[in-house]
Amino acid sequence: MLSTMQDEPLSLATLLRYASTFMGDSTVSTWTGTGVRTMTYRELGTESARLANALRALGIGDGDRVGTFMWNNNEHMVAYIAVPAMGAVLHALNIRLFPEQLVFVANHAEDQVVIVDGTLVPMFAQYLPNLKTVRHVIVANGDAAALQAPEGVQVHSYAELLAAQPDTFDFPVIDERSAAAMCYTSGTTGDPKGVVYSHRSNWLHAMQVCQPTSMGFSNRDYVLAIVPLFHANAWGLPYAALMSGANVLMPDRFLQPGPLLEMMAAEQPTFAAAVPTIWGGVLAGLAAKPQDISHLRSVVVGGSAVPPSMMRAFQEKHGVRILHAWGMTETSPLGSVAHPPAGVAGEDEWEYRFTQGRFPASVQARLVGDNGTVVPNDGESLGELEVRGPWITGSYYAPDGAVIDPDKFDNGWLRTGDVGKISPDGYLTLVDRSKDVIKSGGEWISSVDLENAVMGHPAVAEAAVIGVPDEKWDERPLVAIVLAEGTEAKPEELRDFLADKFAKWQLPERWTFIAEVPKTSVGKFDKKRLRAQYADGDLTVTTLS
Ligand code: AMP
Repeated sequence: MLSTMQDEPLSLATLLRYASTFMGDSTVSTWTGTGVRTMTYRELGTESARLANALRALGIGDGDRVGTFMWNNNEHMVAYIAVPAMGAVLHALNIRLFPEQLVFVANHAEDQVVIVDGTLVPMFAQYLPNLKTVRHVIVANGDAAALQAPEGVQVHSYAELLAAQPDTFDFPVIDERSAAAMCYTSGTTGDPKGVVYSHRSNWLHAMQVCQPTSMGFSNRDYVLAIVPLFHANAWGLPYAALMSGANVLMPDRFLQPGPLLEMMAAEQPTFAAAVPTIWGGVLAGLAAKPQDISHLRSVVVGGSAVPPSMMRAFQEKHGVRILHAWGMTETSPLGSVAHPPAGVAGEDEWEYRFTQGRFPASVQARLVGDNGTVVPNDGESLGELEVRGPWITGSYYAPDGAVIDPDKFDNGWLRTGDVGKISPDGYLTLVDRSKDVIKSGGEWISSVDLENAVMGHPAVAEAAVIGVPDEKWDERPLVAIVLAEGTEAKPEELRDFLADKFAKWQLPERWTFIAEVPKTSVGKFDKKRLRAQYADGDLTVTTLS
């Protein structure tokens, strides 16, 4: 028996129509360095129509890929919604990829048009001659004439192109399963892999972001979107904002702690989202120059494990609640979010809030042990996390239909490569990435646990732990420490600090002090580069007896 319900597709064009009419007074603002330039959602609607008309005039049709090479700003937000709404596919390019990876992903996705920020034109110009399918480049917020186009590529000014277009567009009805946007993984090994989101997956995911058990967006929020729009589907923030009418603050290129704190002081956002390294910098900035940031009702942090010391510092010193969340490019990205259960308050909240969080109904999760069997969710048994659901990818994009990385999929489940445990009430605690866990004498040592613990020492600004070869134990941990400005600490002191938190055999004997932990293109610790530095003998290691 079929239902009597209407089969209305979950299309992002509907979201655009809703936001630009019923939520027309909500705004998206971009920080300029001294203030903001603001557009209402009503204006976002007309700008989206102009961009869609312009792209159609350039020959962009259903399913064609439109790249962006941009900071988070108003124009990027317009592209984020206009491109899928017109039936094309948004491909936000990661401006921080290594050149060969950037060229690879743009060619692999077969981007036809790329919208580029003026300040990024010199960087983009280096890649453009190698981009095989790009026919048009649209320069926003800058001088289009500054870009020397290779033969066969036309360069346009975003402002001039859009000014010449009508401010309405007949957005088509789109099959909800069609591609809306794509993102490539920022993996540090091998070629990046493409994930293609559908209208349906983005719509459902946006609904989840708006839930109170998730980020709880509403029309009263002002969301500072620090996470780049090119990282992991922008954590769903743009579509959730349009769905809820939340206002958005875009930092553009002003991503250092100083400017972030200035824009917070000026604009008083209620919510913000970024990886832990950004918040580590903000904390240090606040220590140097105190400022009230209690206008932030909550801050979602994920992408890598959030050190408990950081969560406590935000709460206890600044009255700001960090919301720990786990996700991946492959999961749109929202997986679990760490709200404590009802009835738990005060100090008791932490044991839940330090976890990677609880899964929503739409994301099924299980743990698979070394022998391939599913282990129980008893809060103790460890296994590789596997997930499935309507916004979890079922494969990687391949233009020729080839199967990429079949090992990442297990009978309809996505293998995440993350190792952890799940409590009976659905809280995930990750122990490590399977490739980062340290195998010492047949036992596991969690690099993340060591990092989190040592980052609780007041002299430690950042710490990254890698496994290094050891004759007797196969592998032992090496701790790379970045000291906080103006502080000192000896390896013995740091090891003593860990002594009551770990078993004796887990305590690291190898320590190194470095100026900075190498970071990936999305601001996570790049342990592959750290391992290479160690292998090349670039690190001065102290070995404690
Ligand atoms: P990406 O696709 O760049 O977002 O990377 C996804 C990976 O980041 C996951 O598979 C995890 O290894 C890691 N990750 C994301 N969120 C967390 C978190 N809250 N704690 C620990 N690792 C995380």
